[in-house]
Amino acid sequence: MRISGLKNVIDGNNVTLSVIVDSEKLGNNELWFSVPDKYAHGLCETRLDGFLVGMLFPAMRYGENIYVEGCVSAQLLFNLNQYVIPMLMAFLPACKRIKITAAETNSDRFDCSGVGTGFSGGVDSFCTFYDHYELEQKTENRINSLIFLNVGSNGPGRSDEELAYARKKFHSRYEYLTKFPEELGLDFIPIDSNLHSFHPWGHQLTHSLTTVSAVLIMQNMYRKYFYASGGLSYLELFKYYNFLLKIDTALIDPMLLPLLSTESLNFISDGAQYTRTEKILRIVDYEPVQRYLNVCVHDRESHENCSECSKCCRTLMTLNSIGKLEDFSNLFDIQKYKRHVEFLYVCQQVVLQNKDPFARNSIELARKHNIRLPSFVVSFLLVSLISLGRTWIPRTVFSKIKSLIKQY
Ligand SMILES: [Zn+2]
Repeated sequence: MRISGLKNVIDGNNVTLSVIVDSEKLGNNELWFSVPDKYAHGLCETRLDGFLVGMLFPAMRYGENIYVEGCVSAQLLFNLNQYVIPMLMAFLPACKRIKITAAETNSDRFDCSGVGTGFSGGVDSFCTFYDHYELEQKTENRINSLIFLNVGSNGPGRSDEELAYARKKFHSRYEYLTKFPEELGLDFIPIDSNLHSFHPWGHQLTHSLTTVSAVLIMQNMYRKYFYASGGLSYLELFKYYNFLLKIDTALIDPMLLPLLSTESLNFISDGAQYTRTEKILRIVDYEPVQRYLNVCVHDRESHENCSECSKCCRTLMTLNSIGKLEDFSNLFDIQKYKRHVEFLYVCQQVVLQNKDPFARNSIELARKHNIRLPSFVVSFLLVSLISLGRTWIPRTVFSKIKSLIKQY
């Protein structure tokens, strides 16, 4: 795989940095990142670090060595070859050993003062923001701008239709979330890209690498970046190793992120000092959370919380346990959750509590607050019935049964 031909194109109000990726498996394709022109000074045009990290996982899956026809960070190149490639091979066996070389390296530190994090309105990003903006006293550690990315979290990019759908959702979520940074007078930088078209394995598997890739593109602006973790504590990352393996690289974030740092930009994996429920308890009384919390992973164009997907339910179950459900009635449809979703969801958590760390967290918190839970036997029978129903009962009859169970 060859990465070459760095190009800067001004298109209306946006500035795009692009390269050509020449791959045996994929052929010749353009990889690009784009930001509004008022943030163009942050684009790194002297090193191809961001493009290299973005293509690392695809190159390893296809077993293609990478040659960068340009300059990369000496520290990053060393760390990728020595540590990151063996680490990805160890945790993701489908990855093959490759070698990365570059025409040139340097150890430049850029003159910048940005301290950033991503902002999606979710529990993880709110917790990182609360700790390192609201509570942080030292300027060198205090977040001074926020980023919003289109590298996979808004939907996959395996076709032109999927890319267009993801871009529409990216713009819609950005417009919704931008009100919060505006209130605080912080920059909220949208970074658009087609990077997810090179990552057909799903956002969850490679989100750390794709996020770091986009932030490195803005390396002229940032010297520190807090990457909000996927919701598990340090201990849980070890304890539920088998649960996470092969589905989510968050498992290795605390090891991986520092190795993706350069001489100029320091990546910090933030959030594993808490469990998911500890995070919610930490931010639940931070007033903006009650206006902007956005956790939904439902596959639809709207940015609004659906009150029935796995993340909406997980959040609502926690809020219910601590008696804060009504405080979030402007963000969630509480009636819908209570009447049609809650019982079945809680049954699923009871069944999953010994396998799934998020279910375990939710059940423990409910017990601590004396919330009445269905027994394991009842939960198991109901969840099994629903699962069997999906396979064997005609769809119309199954929907009727499911709706009756939910109403119960
Ligand atoms: Zn949802």
